[in-house]
Amino acid sequence: RALNPLKQINEEIFEYAANKQKEINDLKKMEEFRREFVANVSHELKTPIFAAQGFVHTLLDGAIDNKKVRYKFLMKAGKSLDGLDMLVQDLLTLSQMETGDIKMNYEHFNISMMVREVFEQFEEDAEKKGIDLTLKVKELQDTFVFADERRIYQVLVNLVSNAIKYTKKEGAVEVYFKSEGNGVVVYVKDYGRGIPTEDIDRIFERFYRVEKSRSKDKGGTGLGLAIVKHIIELHHTKVKVVSEVNKGSVFSFKLPKGKMEAANEPLNFA
Ligand code: ADP
Repeated sequence: RALNPLKQINEEIFEYAANKQKEINDLKKMEEFRREFVANVSHELKTPIFAAQGFVHTLLDGAIDNKKVRYKFLMKAGKSLDGLDMLVQDLLTLSQMETGDIKMNYEHFNISMMVREVFEQFEEDAEKKGIDLTLKVKELQDTFVFADERRIYQVLVNLVSNAIKYTKKEGAVEVYFKSEGNGVVVYVKDYGRGIPTEDIDRIFERFYRVEKSRSKDKGGTGLGLAIVKHIIELHHTKVKVVSEVNKGSVFSFKLPKGKMEAANEPLNFA
């Protein structure tokens, strides 16, 4: 019995050491994430800068006098800089969300109307590839949610643009809603290339791409889904994905139901 206090002290020391070890491991992991992130950012920034720089210097070195190519080179430089701008904007959004500088602005709004607006934005891209964009609700049947209107708009833009981007040609992107308790589940479904099971858990990581080289040509920043995940988590819920290679993917998330009477005039995102 006299040994018991010693035994207890031993156990406490042991537990303390185990906790400290865990803390150290977590810090090491975070440090590794940070290093990897900085390396990725530098690489992603370098690519468009390098391209724009190349075109501008070629013009300065004389190509400016060549009427055939000068417009094309300027266009290409401009496009690279637009990509750079997109990347920096996405990085800023992510960092604001992480430092908690972003306050959620909850409102009641009509998400059916929002989906129509997002579709309008992508009408041309979809048409070029022969993809139908459909909102699967009965005409005039409006669905209201209570959430941050601007941020949910961004979520829908990112999901719909991916759905189009990762469908080769001729397919459909469908958005539909299901009522579930006091919430509404929003689904974005495509019939595109799908996501391999081993990649599903990683696609929400910053800069993670299933096809390392090819998807870059498609113009994404690699941050779209990381932003989606953050925004949905700020709404205290999670994004779900169900996907099958060559069949397609369904992304979904649940939001609290909103009240039509309380909804303001829709925001203008144009
Ligand atoms: P990106 O700018 O590369 O599109 P995202 O963060 O939006 O970055 O997506 C990460 C990766 O997840 C994409 O590169 C792609 O490999 C995969 N992905 C995202 N959405 C889809 C989809 N609807 N169908 C197939 N793959 C997808």
